Amino acid sequence: MNRPERFERLYAEVRGCERCPLAATRTCSVPGEGNINAEVMFIGEAPGANEDKQGRPFVGAAGQFLDELLGHAGLDRSSAYICNVLKCRPPNNRDPLPDEIEACRDYLDEQIDLIDPLVIVTLGRYSMARYFPKQTISRIHGTVKEVAGRFYVPMYHPAAALHQGGLRQVIIEDFRKLPGILQRARRAAGAPVMPGLAPPPAAPIVAARPAAPPPPPIPDDEPWEYEDGGADFDGEPPMEELAVAVEPSPTAPLRQERGAMPAEAVASPPRDAGAAAEPAAPPPAPTEESTAPGPTPSRIPEPITQPQIRLFD
Ligand code: SF4
Repeated sequence: MNRPERFERLYAEVRGCERCPLAATRTCSVPGEGNINAEVMFIGEAPGANEDKQGRPFVGAAGQFLDELLGHAGLDRSSAYICNVLKCRPPNNRDPLPDEIEACRDYLDEQIDLIDPLVIVTLGRYSMARYFPKQTISRIHGTVKEVAGRFYVPMYHPAAALHQGGLRQVIIEDFRKLPGILQRARRAAGAPVMPGLAPPPAAPIVAARPAAPPPPPIPDDEPWEYEDGGADFDGEPPMEELAVAVEPSPTAPLRQERGAMPAEAVASPPRDAGAAAEPAAPPPAPTEESTAPGPTPSRIPEPITQPQIRLFD
């Protein structure tokens, strides 16, 4: 089974999942969407009301701000991958419960395995807690930690700016660091480094699939690297508290292949006319990678049994 097929299977499983009580109150599950070859993966918390109706992540007011933030990072929805810790909406947008997060964990593990991103950006407390337990977002937002060749960057959830206007610029500044972080991640992975902003390969937007073993603890023997945005993070964090959990990725070979990004990871396929209405993503600026010859990307058929979820292979 190839990666697009694995994604299809995962999304189908999430759509029919009844592992936790949220299955009884959701309208649609929200597996995620984005480029399966994305170098940057964003992990939010849980679907809200709009996401629950449409089956897509970040489509409300916070989603509009996220689109703006992606632009500040030289990214868009066709070049990144976006999902949540929980795939179904908690009633009245209450906080996710520990049992729900645990029940849904395998789906996110599988998505990370399949995407194998160079950079994981956590948006908000609950996704941050997956990698930075016992930390507070106000202390570590915008900082970066490299573990086993992957860079982890905790950030505020875009919705935080809707409630606290003062955070808007803070979040923007954090996102503006991403191109540089991505360059460093590419260097660490031995991948080509683009001059200036490095819009990741624009291509397919995808969706989700099933379980993977829980990630083993990340060694905390490396020092944190502080970015400007973490100015209120005053000193070395208590590393013994950072039982970051990241697994050695079984998809490591894929990351190696990114050194010469395959054409299908760069070309932006036409949007399906039958897909849910969404503003068309602007075509990516040509890069060295985008001019590389390669096979024409094939499009994964859109599911038609639920609100459309774009799948870019
Ligand atoms: S939140 Fe996750 S575990 Fe719970 S029903 Fe939805 S997909 Fe299944």
